[in-house]
Amino acid sequence: MEQQPYYKRVILKLSGEALSGQLGYGIDSEVITSIANQVKDVVDLKVEVAVVVGGGNIWRGIAGSAKGIDRATADYMGMLATVMNSLALQDALETIGVPTRVQSSITMQQVAEPYIRRRAIRHLEKGRVVIFAAGTGNPYFSTDTTAALRAAEIEAEVILMAKNKVDGVYSADPFKDPNAVKYESLTYLDVISNNLGVMDSTASSLCMDNNIPLVVFSITEKGNIKRVVLGEKIGTTVRGSV
Ligand code: UDP
Repeated sequence: MEQQPYYKRVILKLSGEALSGQLGYGIDSEVITSIANQVKDVVDLKVEVAVVVGGGNIWRGIAGSAKGIDRATADYMGMLATVMNSLALQDALETIGVPTRVQSSITMQQVAEPYIRRRAIRHLEKGRVVIFAAGTGNPYFSTDTTAALRAAEIEAEVILMAKNKVDGVYSADPFKDPNAVKYESLTYLDVISNNLGVMDSTASSLCMDNNIPLVVFSITEKGNIKRVVLGEKIGTTVRGSV
């Protein structure tokens, strides 16, 4: 019997770090191929998948501004880094036969479509994976906020936040504190008031205000994206109310 997905339209948030694997920097081709295959498994279930890709594996605005670069300029550099990652993911997906479109919030006609909401929805309806590049197009924001914003705009049912170091949200840093416990479910208020570091406060507020659930899980275990999409309880779920 064909497996019935729990969601019809999802946003997958991939941090830049998730693409760098053990390298810790740049793009690991084996890792990106493995992620592409996991995305394909979900597309094969007829789930509409949009992806927001980060850029931290190449450049982070805050780190750049700490080195003396003007913050807004450093942030634009970070947004350009997300475009590089998006093109790499597009290539990995198309190599295995998944149709894709990259839509960039900073127009660059030669490499990507501009972000056009209605067009993005149309692509999804046609079974194409839409990769949202260049964040929100604004400095001082993050790609987590981009995921929240695009999820609201395209009416995605959930944000799937794939992590490569942790498998959910913990009460403390599990690498430093042996007593850290993993939460099964949380509210956005818990996340914001306890400073749990799941996503920045702008992104958390946007999700809370628009009632967008979030599942935080590990992408290093193959098949996890599909498990979440099929409704299996893994990782940590964050909602407006429990
Ligand atoms: N960025 C930005 N506006 C956005 C999204 C991203 O200025 O709407 C910049 C910001 O400098 C950020 C960098 O792009 O540090 C990379 O994005 P992010 O840190 O969210 O990537 P991730 O941590 O997911 O790899």
